[in-house]
Amino acid sequence: MSATSPSAPQVLVIGLDGGTFDLIEPWVEAGRLPNIGRLMRDGTWGALRSTIHPLTPTAWTTFATGCQPGKHGVYDFALFRPGSYEPILTDAACSRAPSVFQLLSEAGRRVVAYNIPWTYPPEPVNGVMIAGFGAPRFDRRLACPATAFEGLQERVDRVSFEIPPRNDDGVIVEAVEAQVEQVGAMARFLIESQRPDFACVVFMATDQVGHVAWTQRRATRANGQVIADVLLHTYELVDAQIGQLLGVVGEETTVILMSDHGFGDRRGVVDLGGALHRAGIVAYQGRGPVPAPRVRKHGRAGGVLGMVEAGLKAILPKELRGRIRQSMTPSLDFAATKAWVWGRYPKLRFNVRGREAQGVVEPGAELDALRKATCECLLGVTDPADGRPVIETVWRGDEIYPGAPPGDAPDLVAATRDFAYISRDIATGGTRAFLTEEARQAVGWRHEQGGIHRMAGVLVAYGPGVPAGERIEGATLADLAPTILHLLQAPIPRSMDGRPLLGTAVEPQYTDRETPPQPRSAAEATESDLQQVTDRLQDLGYID
Ligand SMILES: [Zn+2]
Repeated sequence: MSATSPSAPQVLVIGLDGGTFDLIEPWVEAGRLPNIGRLMRDGTWGALRSTIHPLTPTAWTTFATGCQPGKHGVYDFALFRPGSYEPILTDAACSRAPSVFQLLSEAGRRVVAYNIPWTYPPEPVNGVMIAGFGAPRFDRRLACPATAFEGLQERVDRVSFEIPPRNDDGVIVEAVEAQVEQVGAMARFLIESQRPDFACVVFMATDQVGHVAWTQRRATRANGQVIADVLLHTYELVDAQIGQLLGVVGEETTVILMSDHGFGDRRGVVDLGGALHRAGIVAYQGRGPVPAPRVRKHGRAGGVLGMVEAGLKAILPKELRGRIRQSMTPSLDFAATKAWVWGRYPKLRFNVRGREAQGVVEPGAELDALRKATCECLLGVTDPADGRPVIETVWRGDEIYPGAPPGDAPDLVAATRDFAYISRDIATGGTRAFLTEEARQAVGWRHEQGGIHRMAGVLVAYGPGVPAGERIEGATLADLAPTILHLLQAPIPRSMDGRPLLGTAVEPQYTDRETPPQPRSAAEATESDLQQVTDRLQDLGYID
């Protein structure tokens, strides 16, 4: 009976990367998104708080693990290990916490996990996992088991995996349509062929089109037809796929529609490295070449950390390593700099003696004074447009990321005002703290029409036992993994930061058992793989 059970899956999660109620609510009211509207009307909904920072790798890893970044360790697209100036591109193997997919599989539930960002390399599940954004290329290494790639290849071409291309008329509409349709078709195939207890699929186009067409929404088809609002068109395409997905699940299915972060205007670009340079904190090598790459040693730690390290496979090929460093930490003089900043949402490490290879700052009083001066400098940077501070808050990493091993988290983590500003080093050595429009054009920055992320994501829950028309308050991304485990009557690790949001009439079942993340299967990444990942990050404006 179970093979044809009309109620499978018990839980279906549909992710809209970058989905926001700021767009959804008015479009639902206008009748443009009938399926999402029906889920909201007949279900419970509200904002879903993202992670600090509201970045795709960090947020989806929190979704997958029920843990905040201090426990899973994926703070950004790139991170620095203590003692190394080499940026490491993160992937799912960096996570220190087991995923909900692993925990469900170990509890005997069947799982379909398709197109979820930062699940590459895929992990063995009781069912099928096909990794999403963050995976290097469209080949068998995407799927676990690898044989599942054949089903993918029959329904999906590269278009559904890559960022929709643009031309002079805007986003290429046909590429967006192909992507959304193919992802929906593959998700339906996996649900119908696998009959899982739990299924999760993520649509990326809502984020990608937001990044490239937030303010200039007009696009033209190859046949000349004008699309007035390509972002609305994208949401309508996804809404239609949601309708089709609802058609292949049963009445007993709990449906959760969610996003990893919201979306909004990008107000400006700020060069915090430049500001700290003027304050005597960041030292550049002038306009000289970046330092020669250093070789990082593998396998120095045992246990779980050793496994994570081995899984990192993160010694980047030379050329690419230079390119990423040029982007993250351009022309820094590590023998002299007291700190360095990286990330579009800024993070900072102090060059501490005894911890970093060429550390110059003494721990203790000197570090405390430097931290104070750094915070003052960051909080003093203003937007010339309104004279108000660009940085709203600066946290110590060990405070905002509890549970992180010593030295693992960034030393300081800054929130720009409304998360509407992004940080970017200017390769000329950082002489300006704020990038004017002219300067931005002079450095050839792409995506002038782009939006950027926000903290408030989307949560809509619909199904048996979920009250109709109610609002949910105070939900966070970390609550979803425990919610999913609870709905599937699987034990929730007490170490998870989140708590179940639904089905709480029944007492949740917790476990104190510590489950290490299982090894992941992908082969060593090649230079060309990393090049592809880097190109995609560049397309979205995360690196230069
Ligand atoms: Zn995202």
